[in-house]
Amino acid sequence: MKQSQMFIPTLKETPADAESASHQFLLRGGYIRQNAAGIYSYLPLGYKIIKKIETIIREEMDRTGAQELLMPAMQPAELWHESGRWDVYGPELMRLKDRHGREFAMGATGEELITSLVRDTLNTYKKLPTTLYQIQTKYRDEKRPRFGLLRGREFIMKDAYSFHAETDTLDDVYWAMYHAYQRVFERCGLKFRAVLADSGAIGGKDTHEFQALAAIGEDTIAYSDGSDYAANLEMAEVIDVPKEKPVGQPLKKIAGNSGTESLAVHWFKTREATLAVFLRAEDEVNDVKVKNYLGADMIEALTDEKLDAVHPLAGVRVLADNALKAIADGVFYNKAEETTYAELDPSRDLPIEAFADFRFIKEGDPSPDGKGTIRFAKGIEIGQIFKLGTKYSEAMGAYFLDDAGKSKPLIMGCYGIGISRTLSAVCEQYHDQNGLIWPKDLAPFTVHLITMNMKNEAQKQLSAELYQSLLEKGYDVLWDDRKERPGVKFADSELIGSPVQLVVGKKADEGIIEISRRSDSERKECAVHNLLEQVN
Ligand code: ATP
Ligand code: MG
Ligand code: MG
Ligand code: MG
Repeated sequence: MKQSQMFIPTLKETPADAESASHQFLLRGGYIRQNAAGIYSYLPLGYKIIKKIETIIREEMDRTGAQELLMPAMQPAELWHESGRWDVYGPELMRLKDRHGREFAMGATGEELITSLVRDTLNTYKKLPTTLYQIQTKYRDEKRPRFGLLRGREFIMKDAYSFHAETDTLDDVYWAMYHAYQRVFERCGLKFRAVLADSGAIGGKDTHEFQALAAIGEDTIAYSDGSDYAANLEMAEVIDVPKEKPVGQPLKKIAGNSGTESLAVHWFKTREATLAVFLRAEDEVNDVKVKNYLGADMIEALTDEKLDAVHPLAGVRVLADNALKAIADGVFYNKAEETTYAELDPSRDLPIEAFADFRFIKEGDPSPDGKGTIRFAKGIEIGQIFKLGTKYSEAMGAYFLDDAGKSKPLIMGCYGIGISRTLSAVCEQYHDQNGLIWPKDLAPFTVHLITMNMKNEAQKQLSAELYQSLLEKGYDVLWDDRKERPGVKFADSELIGSPVQLVVGKKADEGIIEISRRSDSERKECAVHNLLEQVN
């Protein structure tokens, strides 16, 4: 492609509100443009990479036997009423009405839609298991859209759903997806870890996240340096504490119960620390009962410390810079320090007494599986896989007949990859102070051919020949044939970040050009007849 004809609106300056490297360089390199908060256009360069990531994902999904379909982004509200999520999803779900007043959701995810699609068709064990996937734009009215494509309000996601007659095949597909995700992210060149997710609340074995390692990441993961153990420190979503009472609502019921008591997890964010309190679900969130539950001793211990931040919950005063105070039967996780967290033994049925088994993990601890030492790292969640069980099939009446003719709810799994977020995660890992440095398999162009002076006939002529022959050899070449100063061309070339640069300059008439790789600063001369060996 000739650069003079391509739409690559690079920017000299870093846009003021772009805080992360990926956001800055995707904007500056002419890859994306913002249209509204958390809403972006993918310009030709950016869209090329999106398509490359999609191709990798399609190949790996198809390899597992999953079949691609495409469902609408606009979903009828009735389906969300059936699942119960119309009410519980909250303001993140974007909603709209048509001219007849019928309500719709802009798809934040696709469980409702897919369950409604299969409930009349996957109705016998003979048709199971089946896995379907799509690549479709998703909408979430994120409270804080930020870091460009990393947390958008409109973003591209691959979402897959599997349907099963028995848990064995769910297990098989879950692990096939796990390995497919590993291949996808390896092919994207990412340094990442698969981690147990939500390990405290719903049993870490049933869901893994794929976390790209990056300092900007919003998640903190604990991993062992001597084994494969890795877990997300986040056990539940974090919410801000509203000023007025009641101070919060249960975000999540812990699966299982002890006797008649089911449990709920409450997360609250104080000024500097995040505080998690585990309560009985029947409890009102109010002073008396929380005090009852946490126990007088603990409350004493907290107040005795002359704690400096008043937390509205239970009137408990919590030391903001040292929130880890509650042991035994309550759990505090210090988000500010990120040195501790609590983990439930997933094999337990989560009775209240299980709190006694909570472990607090800090960096340097031996690892939970007895191998290696715990390390912490920041991660960007680029994908997540879940065993859903029968939650949606039961709620929405998706039943099949088993081999004995008995009607049973479909067992489900779901598997997501944030495609636009993956693009950003790659940029977080592959850049320097001057721009992006694409891994070979994702680069929008593998070779950037730069003609220093288009007015010089020898340079122009040699460049045209090289361009043609590289294209014929199958290289994806961007030819900077613009009538710009060399400084402008080099700056743009670094921003764009193709793996190889070929510079046609003063020695063009001798058949000599310069070759460099974006990943290092070395430039060397090369005779054009030797070029092909050097480009690879
Ligand atoms: P997060 O914890 O970052 O809010 P999530 O757990 O809510 O993400 P999932 O519901 O698991 O996200 O969705 C599947 C994938 O979609 C995520 O792993 C992530 O890669 C991507 N994703 C989720 N929210 C966004 C967003 N706002 N912008 C871009 N990608 C997103
Ligand atoms: Mg989210
Ligand atoms: Mg998450
Ligand atoms: Mg997730």
